[in-house]
Amino acid sequence: MIALLRRAGLVCALGAALAACGTAQPQRRTPPAPVSAPPPAPPTLAPGPAGLTPVFEHGPRSRGRTVALTFDADMTAGQGARAAAGERFDHPQLISTLRALRVPATVFMTGRWAEEYPDQARSIGRDPRFEVANHSYSHYAYTRDCYGLPTVPRKLMRSDVERAYAAFRKAGVRAPMPYFRFPGGCYDRRALRALTPTGVTAVQWDVVGGDAFETDADVVVRQVLDGVRPGSVVVLHCTRSAAPATERAVRAIVPALRGRGFRFVKVSELIGTVGGRR
Ligand SMILES: [Zn+2]
Repeated sequence: MIALLRRAGLVCALGAALAACGTAQPQRRTPPAPVSAPPPAPPTLAPGPAGLTPVFEHGPRSRGRTVALTFDADMTAGQGARAAAGERFDHPQLISTLRALRVPATVFMTGRWAEEYPDQARSIGRDPRFEVANHSYSHYAYTRDCYGLPTVPRKLMRSDVERAYAAFRKAGVRAPMPYFRFPGGCYDRRALRALTPTGVTAVQWDVVGGDAFETDADVVVRQVLDGVRPGSVVVLHCTRSAAPATERAVRAIVPALRGRGFRFVKVSELIGTVGGRR
């Protein structure tokens, strides 16, 4: 489009001696825009009782052996100084391993993480193997007493979610999903009510990978393999400093689950199979 405008400008400049520019438009027809169907809207759950934000925990148990690996890309709003001092909240090797093993996955990203690692956020967000979902901007808790996290005041909950989407857009993430994971998984009715206007589906899990601060990959592998059932949602982390064994664990978990006949899917596919609305 810029090239076309430049060309039009050039025609204008050349024609200026002959006719007043602005009245004599170049007689060139704009080529039709390529026609492509808009991508289908991602499935979401219907609102819960009293219009509360719906909560999804796992897919159907009886419709095939599917499992969704989810990775929380955690970074809190207060950790900028630690990142500047060299702490790594990203995990590019984990993402490379998922690509190499051809594992689809859902990444629950904080807005602060996307600000710190915009190139990685964009790369994950433009790879059809992955979907980016919202893990808040600040990674502050939406309830009191949630693993010692600072608390988001209720009136700022909605804007904390929206600010994360703005950070994703700024990084170049295409079409982030309308799914939200509460920091620490902590929520109550107040939080669900506060987020209703955003239209997100809250996504929890039924299998805790236990990779936070775990250094022994075998512990994570055992915990995941013991917990997974058809339709499971597994929570793991995409944060090198806080989840140092996750990448090694994934390299063992993936072939083991495939050997049991499991197929890896993204959260959107599980929500779609439980009758999520499009
Ligand atoms: Zn988190």
